[in-house]
Amino acid sequence: MRYVSTRGEVPPLSFTEAVATGLAPDGGLYIPEKLPYLAPFFPQWEKLSYTELAQAFFRVFANDIDAEVLNGHIADAYSRFDHPQIAPLHRLDEQTQVLELFHGPTLAFKDFALQLLGNLYALQIERTEEPINILGATSGDTGAAAIHGLLNKPGVRSFILYPEGGVSALQERQMTCTGADNVHPIAIRGSFDDAQRIIKQIFGDLEFRRTYRLSAVNSINLARILAQCVYYLYAWFRLTDAERRDLEFVVPTGNFGNVLAGWLMHRMGMPVKRFRIATNQNDILHRLFSTGEYRQEPVLKSVAPSMDIQIASNFERFLYYHEKGESRRVRELVEAFQTKGAVAFEQFDADIFTSSSADDATIAQLIREVDSRYGYLMDPHTACGFAGWDKPCHRVVLSTAHPAKFPDTIEAAVGRKPRSESLDSLMDKEIRKVVLEADTETIRNYIQANAETSN
Ligand SMILES: *Cc1c(COP(=O)(O)O)cnc(C)c1O
Repeated sequence: MRYVSTRGEVPPLSFTEAVATGLAPDGGLYIPEKLPYLAPFFPQWEKLSYTELAQAFFRVFANDIDAEVLNGHIADAYSRFDHPQIAPLHRLDEQTQVLELFHGPTLAFKDFALQLLGNLYALQIERTEEPINILGATSGDTGAAAIHGLLNKPGVRSFILYPEGGVSALQERQMTCTGADNVHPIAIRGSFDDAQRIIKQIFGDLEFRRTYRLSAVNSINLARILAQCVYYLYAWFRLTDAERRDLEFVVPTGNFGNVLAGWLMHRMGMPVKRFRIATNQNDILHRLFSTGEYRQEPVLKSVAPSMDIQIASNFERFLYYHEKGESRRVRELVEAFQTKGAVAFEQFDADIFTSSSADDATIAQLIREVDSRYGYLMDPHTACGFAGWDKPCHRVVLSTAHPAKFPDTIEAAVGRKPRSESLDSLMDKEIRKVVLEADTETIRNYIQANAETSN
């Protein structure tokens, strides 16, 4: 299988190369040259455990890695989850189930991708005997998950930018209290979008990028999207025929990464009626899917900070399919958006997507309502998925974080704090981070001074 850039100006790569590269040199994102049709495998795959399913799935996409080696890395990645099913479904009632994606080491769904990606980087370093420096921007959970996926791996250093004061205290502790020497959390005086802009600019400097063997870990990495496809299929296998016929996946999303994975799985043969894009008050995706206009607005801080995003990086992958694989159109649209901050589509085809948004008050209300009806505490991101949930259909709401990651919001809503032992144990550890200006040159200098190099 080969992977092409959405902007079509660079040659196709193998899986391993595309993963190591991250952002394509033409600024685009890697996608499979041709999406495989996987439905014929389903009868064999249906009974597999989560890990076995991930192994079977990746054998299709990562066919330039020895199958035994790949299986070992996948088994290792999911061995650090604390639930035997890895991604269990929790039933609330006849209609609604919650797919719990928070049983990994940092208690958020990003562990699914980043535990595996960390192992893929290690594999790459073994092969090439060259170090890798990982550069990422985070609004909270990505950074923690990335750092934990790469913790103490030889030859890897991680530089993770996040908005100072823009992530929860616990998220910050997950990033800064690891005690590991290969971790560089950088708090910038700016927003998440500033962090992403800086990362893009640094990656745009091809010389610098080559010299320091920089790779991206944010949701633009191909491996992340593919790793996320697996839990959709795993959940789908566990539904009844009646549920499958009338199925809505509800996906809290900001960067379009999580929901894109589900939609790709659908394109590869998993029948689904609808995907609902559930945003917080930063509703650029909701506005796009309800009006056909993609317009950037200022980022507003919300109680669901991992979705405080106004530029959905992964949207470009959807755009590629929306424009029927015409890279030239993708480039035009991306450029128009970059210069004007808005694109109005003449005919926007929402495909099987619907959308909703929830402001902070609604999130609190929904947390309370679900708690009092079912005794089930959910985190504020997951709560966005419950906006408009009274409409009848079978739905699976993806729960993207453990409620204990956001204790203050939960306490304000229901009057008690959710607990998690692994988070409690962070509170007496030492914080190690640097605070820098939101300025590309400053960040570049810092990386230069601290990067892992071959000699
Ligand atoms: C990252 C994150 C999201 C949004 O994921 P996307 O990649 O933007 O789809 C939602 N909830 C939590 C808890 C997250 O960490």
